[in-house]
Amino acid sequence: MKATVDTETCRGCGFCAKMARGVFEINASGKAYASETDIPEDLMEFAEMAAEECPESSIKIY
Ligand code: SF4
Repeated sequence: MKATVDTETCRGCGFCAKMARGVFEINASGKAYASETDIPEDLMEFAEMAAEECPESSIKIY
């Protein structure tokens, strides 16, 4: 499974990158982006939590 971040709605709070570093990172513009590789199994739970709790609902996991 992979994650995507909608950079239009992301407000750069950094929560996702703290929850699942490596799946989500913050770019130079202060917005989150998601790794293009599959989410490692040991980070899946944290990535899902980040998606559920993102204040802007900017994260999709597919
Ligand atoms: S938790 Fe949501 S709003 Fe915050 S940086 Fe991540 S994608 Fe952006």
